[in-house]
Amino acid sequence: MRLIIMGPPGAGKGTQAKFIAEHFGIPAISTGDIFRANVSRGTELGVEAKRYMDAGEYVPDEVTNLMVRNRIDEPDAEPGFLLDGYPRTLAQVEELDGMIKHTGHALDAVVVLTVDQDEVVERLLQRAETDGRADDTADVIRRRQEIYGEETAPLVEVYRDRGLLIEVDGLGEVDEVTQRIFTALDVVPQS
Ligand code: ADP
Repeated sequence: MRLIIMGPPGAGKGTQAKFIAEHFGIPAISTGDIFRANVSRGTELGVEAKRYMDAGEYVPDEVTNLMVRNRIDEPDAEPGFLLDGYPRTLAQVEELDGMIKHTGHALDAVVVLTVDQDEVVERLLQRAETDGRADDTADVIRRRQEIYGEETAPLVEVYRDRGLLIEVDGLGEVDEVTQRIFTALDVVPQS
């Protein structure tokens, strides 16, 4: 299975990504998690990414694309993968198309979690208290939502046109949402 999970900041992508990946026996690849791991290790990539992340801006495409390309090339991603947080721009969509084509496979489905903006701000502010993520402040959340609307929301239509889109209501209990996703994905033919 080659899958993407999308949705605005706070939609619950990371939470659901873990369950989906486990269900299909594929790795969940989260660009946000990889960036954060690099930030905490103080790598060159981390130092570069932090400047953007703390402001709620996107890390430049060249940096993100190379990182994803390397990650997808690892042996555990050979049977498939679930991407969480990538692609986020039209340029990244094209880049990913190339990467997948190169492996001789195809993208199977794109899950979009739909949520109410206000509900999501609540969730993110709560997460700020428990996880202490540097980008979960009210100002930065607003910027992340804005940039999602400008840069990433248009990708939904791209994947809808390709017939790959699966829209799932992201509101409700975590396992309710997981069940909705499984129900939708279990009928997707695997390439
Ligand atoms: P969110 O919960 O807001 O969706 P993530 O944990 O997925 O956040 O990502 C955190 C930050 O990492 C983003 O705000 C952005 O700065 C950076 N980032 C993650 N994925 C990408 C990407 N595909 N392209 C550019 N920047 C990215």
